[in-house]
Amino acid sequence: KEEMNMIQGALELRSKTVEDIMTPLEDCFMIRSDAVLDFNTMSEIIESGYTRIPVYEGEQSNIVDILLVQDLAFVDPDDCTTLKTITRFYKHPVHFVFHDIKLDSMLEEFKKGKSHLAIVQKVNSDGEGDPFYEVLGLVTLEDVFEEIIKSEILDE
Ligand code: ADP
Repeated sequence: KEEMNMIQGALELRSKTVEDIMTPLEDCFMIRSDAVLDFNTMSEIIESGYTRIPVYEGEQSNIVDILLVQDLAFVDPDDCTTLKTITRFYKHPVHFVFHDIKLDSMLEEFKKGKSHLAIVQKVNSDGEGDPFYEVLGLVTLEDVFEEIIKSEILDE
């Protein structure tokens, strides 16, 4: 039965899109680019339990950086370092993908290395104004794996 599920999951990689499996924007744990890394902010980040945190400027859909929790290793909360100081130092690239790419292509992209987290976006051409990129959520390698094995992976 488990094998059948996995085969089914693997076959579906060609038809499902990242939008089907992503974590939607409203459920994403993110941080403002102008945050100060004081004790409270650092505790919140660590307690979130996530290792990669998108950094946004202005509105939540404007993602400008990724903070890795290990970037905080040498930050002293008493120094009240700004988040910008840290992101400017590490400069992790933000990996954007379109909402309609299929999971098999997404898996290939993740395999190429770089980051195992991607920001999902689409071109929004509804309404009167010019089309713009709209961020819908984030997707990680773990989301694709869960799709293959068809069950939740429990983090220890
Ligand atoms: P982590 O290593 O941070 O635990 P994983 O890559 O193992 O993250 O992903 C576990 C789940 O958490 C996935 O469903 C992924 O979409 C989601 N996820 C990852 N980072 C975040 C975040 N910053 N905010 C909300 N959900 C996230």
